[in-house]
Amino acid sequence: MKPIVRVLLGVAATAGVTALGAPRGDHGFAREAMIGDIAAIYREAGTGSPDEAVLAAMRRVPRHHFVPPALARYAYDNRPLPIGEEQTISQPYIVALMTDLARVRKGDRVLEVGTGSGYQAAVLAEMGATVHTIEILPRLAASASERLERLGYTVNVVTGDGYEGIEAQAPFDSILVTAGAPHVPPALVRQLKPGGRMVIPVGEAGSIQVLTVVEKDGKGVVTKRTVLPVRFVPLTR
Ligand code: SAH
Repeated sequence: MKPIVRVLLGVAATAGVTALGAPRGDHGFAREAMIGDIAAIYREAGTGSPDEAVLAAMRRVPRHHFVPPALARYAYDNRPLPIGEEQTISQPYIVALMTDLARVRKGDRVLEVGTGSGYQAAVLAEMGATVHTIEILPRLAASASERLERLGYTVNVVTGDGYEGIEAQAPFDSILVTAGAPHVPPALVRQLKPGGRMVIPVGEAGSIQVLTVVEKDGKGVVTKRTVLPVRFVPLTR
């Protein structure tokens, strides 16, 4: 069933783009197929339906600029890809789900831990958030910062240990941790606003982690719920 749907969508998209005379090679078809894949995986995984604002943001981010040039043709496949320094850019479905669970709204102050390529930060910026992102590996932080600027995204990229968050910019409406931690870092809980939420993969390095949502209510009471088993690179110290 699925391949047939894909073929039909492909034909429809081709006709539309030809009519508009859009430039070739801008990965527009692949990006649209990625959006379709995300919605399909939400259904299969039983994670509801994706927030339209998240999909709209992901439609605007040129993911092929966030992967090494040799892998650009795979940029819109629903899989993680290597970005150097033994790190990976997360698969599109996971980026969508984490952004969705973080309930990001226009004007929110958001912290991302684990900048990597800068892709997740760009999606958050497209959602209208004020984005602060922290990366422990200086070379990745520098290349992500340069890339985001070149693509026109205003994001504050900080080099440092995200386990400690960014005290100077706290508190945050949402925090997304894009590396697996054995436990929820206490500094990050402190840096959440009352009414805020954090999305974080929790589990030991090398094993399956559980994507977890940590919420702080208006009175400062913290609750946790688990969403899905995931596998992220480890949060290092
Ligand atoms: N969000 C990224 C992918 C993250 S991969 C993207 O969109 O491309 C996880 C990243 O977390 C890696 O770049 C890794 O270097 C970084 N990382 C690991 N431990 C960290 C720490 N303690 N503080 C900040 N970044 C860390």
